[in-house]
Amino acid sequence: MIICPSCFAVYDGHRWAFDEKVREKAVKGNGYEKHLCPGCERVTRGMVNGVVHLKGGFLQRHKEEAKNLIRSVAEKKLRKNIAARIYHIEEKADEIIIETTDRTLAERLGKEFERAYSGHLDIKWQEGSDFARVYWVRD
Ligand SMILES: [Zn+2]
Repeated sequence: MIICPSCFAVYDGHRWAFDEKVREKAVKGNGYEKHLCPGCERVTRGMVNGVVHLKGGFLQRHKEEAKNLIRSVAEKKLRKNIAARIYHIEEKADEIIIETTDRTLAERLGKEFERAYSGHLDIKWQEGSDFARVYWVRD
């Protein structure tokens, strides 16, 4: 059993998960090692594989809603992929810039914003690398 000392995810030999019961059992039994999980490792190394630019007057008027959506999309994604993390969020008046450790998380954020609030979505992939730049705009 491996436990990530940073986010406390547990690896049981097959997959990483956030399972408190499994974690407690491992800690009590003392039969575990400490290693960063793939997500925390990417964050530590500053590995950014996606950047999402959310922009427009709509954001200014619905900032809290937008932040809640970002949070819930990230949480859902994390349950499927331990390595998909938000690395950094920068907030401006009418813009939010999100750096992610995983390309598909950046894409998912853009798609969920388009689905929830319409607007205009544009995704640009970098050839030969696993990197995406995602633009979503609504005035
Ligand atoms: Zn971790």
